[in-house]
Amino acid sequence: MNFTETKLAEGLWCFEQQGVRSFLLVGEARPLIIDACFGGDLAALCRERGGEPVRLALTHGDRDHVGCMDQFEEVYMHPAEYAHFVAKNGREPAAHPLWEGDRLQAGGYCLEVLHLPGHTPGSIAFLERNKRFLIAGDCVQAAPVYMFGPGRNMAAYRDSLERLWKRRGEFDVIYASHGPLTVPSSLVEELYTFAAEAAAGMLPPPQTLPDPPPAGAGADVRLYKKGSAQFYL
Ligand SMILES: [Zn+2]
Repeated sequence: MNFTETKLAEGLWCFEQQGVRSFLLVGEARPLIIDACFGGDLAALCRERGGEPVRLALTHGDRDHVGCMDQFEEVYMHPAEYAHFVAKNGREPAAHPLWEGDRLQAGGYCLEVLHLPGHTPGSIAFLERNKRFLIAGDCVQAAPVYMFGPGRNMAAYRDSLERLWKRRGEFDVIYASHGPLTVPSSLVEELYTFAAEAAAGMLPPPQTLPDPPPAGAGADVRLYKKGSAQFYL
């Protein structure tokens, strides 16, 4: 499986594969890769870009984000994600904990961990306050956020987006895992508003599902859309 790569800034790379992304941070401090796509030799790609492939942080445990994780010795995730990881991948994760507020020196960057449950129980995002960007996992994207099936929680997602919205002054650009690579911070408010309505049972008429429908979707799953905010429910 091949990757396409984009240099986002000095020491910051995006690797994309079949609509999902990983991010490599290289520089003075130990390198870090965020998320591990579906498969292929992600470790070799990290090495080519100057990042010894040792440390991997997972935004969450869904299968499209963990495919290459065994290529990395040190794996990090939020402990609230462990059970979801087991449910999705059928094995225990050998992972170190990352908690809300933890700071990671990664390449030339300093990342703050934000715990944003909802899409999954242990979803996390990484905030670079000095460089003013957010690596959001699946929490913020201009593509449908998967909110059907075990582990999803719309009320928790609404609260997470509200907390993130209160910190919108700390970032200008959001790097998303799916859909457009960069999305504006205003999308956080759109998603929050729509999630609050959805959690209260106020949904617009559903859209036509794409063909084929999203992976794992039962016959009752619908696509809802309001502006750039979209959910599979
Ligand atoms: Zn995903």
